Amino acid sequence: MELITHVIDGEQVESASGRRFPTVDPWTREPYADVALGDAQDADAAVQAARRAFDAGPWPRMGFAQRGKLIHAFADLIDSHAHELAMADTRDMGKPITDALAKDAPRTAQNFRFFADHARLVTSEALPMDSGHHAYALYQPAGVVAAIAPWNFPMMLESWKVAPALAWGNTVVLKPAEDTPASATLLARLALEAGLPPGVFNVVHGFGPNAVGSALTEHRGVDRITFTGESGTGRAIARAASANLVPVSLELGGKGANLVFDDADLANAVDWSIKAIFTNAGQVCLAGSRLYVQRGIYDEFVSEFVAAADKLVIGDPKDPATQLGPLASLEHYTKVRSYVDELDGAGSANGRMATGGLGDGWVIRPTVVLDAPTDARVCREEIFGPVVTIHAFDTEAEAVALANDSRYGLNAMVFTENLSRAHRVSAALRAGTVWVNCFFIRDLRAPFGGVGDSGIGREGGTFSREFFTEPKAVVMQLSPA
Ligand code: NAD
Repeated sequence: MELITHVIDGEQVESASGRRFPTVDPWTREPYADVALGDAQDADAAVQAARRAFDAGPWPRMGFAQRGKLIHAFADLIDSHAHELAMADTRDMGKPITDALAKDAPRTAQNFRFFADHARLVTSEALPMDSGHHAYALYQPAGVVAAIAPWNFPMMLESWKVAPALAWGNTVVLKPAEDTPASATLLARLALEAGLPPGVFNVVHGFGPNAVGSALTEHRGVDRITFTGESGTGRAIARAASANLVPVSLELGGKGANLVFDDADLANAVDWSIKAIFTNAGQVCLAGSRLYVQRGIYDEFVSEFVAAADKLVIGDPKDPATQLGPLASLEHYTKVRSYVDELDGAGSANGRMATGGLGDGWVIRPTVVLDAPTDARVCREEIFGPVVTIHAFDTEAEAVALANDSRYGLNAMVFTENLSRAHRVSAALRAGTVWVNCFFIRDLRAPFGGVGDSGIGREGGTFSREFFTEPKAVVMQLSPA
């Protein structure tokens, strides 16, 4: 069986303990590779390698142009290995290959190019002072970055962390999710092939709590922790970071509200709303899992939405025709299924299933839930699967109140053709991102992150610079006193 190794100090290595664990293809439900099972010893080896590369290696001392050239060469290799990378994520977590090839792989390469260019081109202000002095900020690399990633967009979310960290001159230890190890090892190999020095980009595999993940977050050699994953895990990581006084960025869960007003372009609203909840089988932090539709168009919207949901092609994620594959693992399928099992086709205390339910294997069909009490589990908790609730509302104020009634605040969507309403509602929503008449369009300069249980901090453009550097104030006397 294939072996997926760690990459530490430029070498592909097994765990110090020699232990391995299997990774499972969620469509066949069979293991297809062994993975090095890391523990605290491997976390330590990777942090030491990153530390040496930072303290004594060329990477943080290199000019932006030279570092950018190497990162661009890395991005070119990501492009030329796009199929291998996409297939790695598809096999690891059941993402349809068409999406992995059209979106995840090219966006991964683009993220590296963007942050390399951004770091070279962004300016910082000089501050003239009254007293014959001036001051300016130097943005210096922070050090060793521990990046801990989830399984839903493996390579793409990893690149959102690794790309700005590297571009600003840091060295990195990445721990991908245990369910999706393959693309991370491939990325680290490609980085070496592109000419990044050994120890600059390390990868360790294994589990989170009381394992290689927590060992990384507790390691005294780490200067920054960037984490994407569940809110509960985010709390544990924030505690570890606070013990060592290490800045932490947390991109956490979501329960996105999607408001469709009766003046919306209906076809556009249905199209984006379908994408917002069923892309990646709903395993998207930004999923529009709470749909609120104004009463005037409620019946028509629901009927078109259900018809579109029923048309999605379910199947083997390796088949280019597939739009919705299995859930990523048995554990995750069991969790999502627990919500579906509480519903009833004919009507139940928890809501009525207009369409959907269980499919074959670890598939949950696109599931639309009507009439659920707003305090039901299905309405309040992040399901992270292809399950959406739809409710009617009457007024704009009611829509905003419903949307904001969540402990999460990652993102929201608004569909309306009324310009004033679009601005008014966007401003009133408690969310890190609001998409108007669209979904998941991202400009890498824009802030990305959540409020409440959806996280702490922002990624993107200068927001990433603030996190991955130590800004230093330099105050200079311009003439003798
Ligand atoms: P998870 O929290 O279970 O795991 C994420 C990563 O953390 C994995 O690599 C895991 O091994 C590691 N981990 C777990 N416990 C740890 C610990 N105590 N110390 C150190 N590392 C630990 O999340 P998941 O199930 O992989 O991903 C799904 C979640 O991620 C959802 O809640 C989703 O909303 C969220 N997510 C958020 C964003 C965002 O940008 N806000 C993006 C994607 C996913």
